[in-house]
Amino acid sequence: MAVDPLIELRDVNKYYGKLHVLRDIDLTVGRGEVVVVIGPSGSGKSTLCRTINRLESIESGTITLSGRPLPAEGKALAQLRAEVGMVFQSFNLFAHKTVLANVSLAQIKVRGRKKEQANERSRDLLDRVGLAAQADKYPAQLSGGQQQRVAIARALAMDPTVLLFDEPTSALDPEMINEVLEVMRQLAQEGMTMVVVTHEMGFARSAANRVVFMADGAIVEDRAPEEFFNAPKSDRAKDFLSKIL
Ligand code: ADP
Ligand code: MG
Repeated sequence: MAVDPLIELRDVNKYYGKLHVLRDIDLTVGRGEVVVVIGPSGSGKSTLCRTINRLESIESGTITLSGRPLPAEGKALAQLRAEVGMVFQSFNLFAHKTVLANVSLAQIKVRGRKKEQANERSRDLLDRVGLAAQADKYPAQLSGGQQQRVAIARALAMDPTVLLFDEPTSALDPEMINEVLEVMRQLAQEGMTMVVVTHEMGFARSAANRVVFMADGAIVEDRAPEEFFNAPKSDRAKDFLSKIL
């Protein structure tokens, strides 16, 4: 793919105290690209995601979004968090608000939309993730797969330029995984730029432009999925794949 870089990490290092969690990370995510990040537990995948929308600071290196360094604070940081949407393993919906209100809330507070305008957009997005009929329900009345689709609609409502997914299906019962992956595949096809941490290798094979394999805080391989899965180069990746495939 011709790379029009949207996110660029250069020589990024991060520590938690003495623990070196991100080591000399160089990563470019092009506009419209889907990058799947895989690797053993504790390898730094979540930390990598969290640094990209500055939920975590870094000790050295640079991260740019559309060529601009990530802002450290204030309005620009709130703007960044809206632009870089994040979907977590736990859906983090407001339990006492309806599905519609969950999707509308940040549109009103962060984007400054009028309630009616926000609700209209929310209904469109809920329709897109197959939940038009659930708008007036509360999260507890929905299945896990439905709740995660609400979380995706909520992220989309901010008009993000990129979506980060951190193990979005790991908390779901097996029969609900596909309905979430299907929504993500759809977004990928529509050209959404996505960074996806997942153990769903089928998704990685079919939807990713690149697979990034991490181990011990470093990027060990960064290649096209068919190359990575058919002929992993590093012993770490071979070992990892032999355990999960
Ligand atoms: P992954 O998502 O690949 O499982 P993480 O990014 O969550 O890995 O964690 C990378 C390493 O950083 C792990 O050793 C983890 O225990 C450690 N870690 C993660 N978050 C914190 C934190 N807030 N404070 C201290 N150590 C952390
Ligand atoms: Mg993680």
